[in-house]
Amino acid sequence: MDTEYAYVDGNAAAGPLQELLAVEPTTVQGQCTTCGRTSVLADTRVYFGGPGLVMRCRGCGSELLSVVTTPTSTRLDVSGLTCLTFPLET
Ligand SMILES: [Zn+2]
Repeated sequence: MDTEYAYVDGNAAAGPLQELLAVEPTTVQGQCTTCGRTSVLADTRVYFGGPGLVMRCRGCGSELLSVVTTPTSTRLDVSGLTCLTFPLET
């Protein structure tokens, strides 16, 4: 049985993504892909050096995310996190 799902282009996600990116980043909760530890981003280890920063898990030391800025762009790599949970304003 073929099922076709309707979709729209990525512009439709602009509003929800803007809301997420406006949240205080240190309150966002992430889960380490290596050890499964879950914590807010404020409860990590951050290393500066080179062209950016690296955020590491306090549980196992694995890289959770990195931010690298060049003269033309900023690259955010979150491959060390299984998911991010953004708190809602209450
Ligand atoms: Zn970990």
